[in-house]
Amino acid sequence: MPVNLLDYDLARLTAFCKEIGEKPFRARQLLRWMHHFGESDFAKMSDLAKSLRVKLAATAVIEPPKVKSASVSADGTRKWLLEVGSGNAVDAVFIPEAERGTLCISTQAGCALECTFCSTGRQGFNRNLTTAEIIGQLWWANKALGYDGRGERVISNVVLMGMGEPLLNFDNVVGALHLMLDDNAYGLSRRRVTLSTSGVVPGIDRLSKACPVALAVSLHAPNDSLRDILVPINKKYPLRELLAACQRYIDVAPRDFVTFEYVMLEGVNDSVAQARQLVDLVKDVPCKFNLIPFNSFPDSGYQRSTPEVISRFRDVLTQAGIVVTTRKTRGDDIDAACGQLVGQVQDRTKRKSRKVTLMENSL
Ligand code: SAH
Ligand code: SF4
Repeated sequence: MPVNLLDYDLARLTAFCKEIGEKPFRARQLLRWMHHFGESDFAKMSDLAKSLRVKLAATAVIEPPKVKSASVSADGTRKWLLEVGSGNAVDAVFIPEAERGTLCISTQAGCALECTFCSTGRQGFNRNLTTAEIIGQLWWANKALGYDGRGERVISNVVLMGMGEPLLNFDNVVGALHLMLDDNAYGLSRRRVTLSTSGVVPGIDRLSKACPVALAVSLHAPNDSLRDILVPINKKYPLRELLAACQRYIDVAPRDFVTFEYVMLEGVNDSVAQARQLVDLVKDVPCKFNLIPFNSFPDSGYQRSTPEVISRFRDVLTQAGIVVTTRKTRGDDIDAACGQLVGQVQDRTKRKSRKVTLMENSL
């Protein structure tokens, strides 16, 4: 079986070069061809010796995921559905803004964590994506956006906020992060790459050592009893432990704060009293808040908080000295907004049958 070189970061590519009897600098050349110029044909890598090109073609491939469909929203947001084998597909979303272009990528086919307001979580879990499939989303998007390795980058920021929980696919995600930061590959700074987690505490500590990029934590509730329901992994890693992990992360973080994401669910977590409780909860953690108006999907059972309620909630945080942004909903006409990503997932956890039963019971 030929190896897929998109699976390798610099360290692994250097080891591979050694195995086939090549010097370490070849690894940097290869990275540059594959990721900076988006080349997938060894024959076109003009500064590699012919004999090396032949050797590479015999032992390796450069295989990004295939695109199943592409859509463009009225606001310019673009979404690609990428095949990841066995009938599964995941979404990648590009959000153009005046000063930056952000690519939101997936890390798993589905998600096992069952947050109640998330359509990915409702679908079940199939498998972890490989490093090639994770970085392949960036590889593809660059190509689709017409970037040829010259001039200003179209993708200036990457957020790991698509399908899946990145910290539960740790090694493959870290391999992809290394490539995002590598000057021979995508050359992004650590502040421009944000990993979002639902709160996998040991993963946060491991990330702080392996590759401390900007951290976003999905908080969504001001106390354990509500968070246990909305984000069930809270039962394993309750708020006190999660906030302590955030405090530890600050020491190595590329920015001097952690971003807390908070989805605004009408009548569930959006009252003034809950905002006050939240202020008290995070008082020892240098943080910013990102309020996300809930994006609905069929049978979600939740409603989005009204703009008035969201601004009242925001004011409580702001008055306590916290910087708050309210996320603009982008791409909802192509189901590309946060939490609407459904990809195509063959659930392996047999969760659906249970869900149907639950739904029948509640009828
Ligand atoms: N698993 C990671 C990253 C993917 S989800 C995490 O949970 O953080 C990215 C963000 O979208 C998270 O903050 C998540 O809570 C939020 N989200 C999920 N479903 C949503 C929905 N229906 N509307 C708005 N935001 C949602
Ligand atoms: Fe998984 Fe994140 Fe969705 Fe929760 S919000 S189910 S952790 S993708």
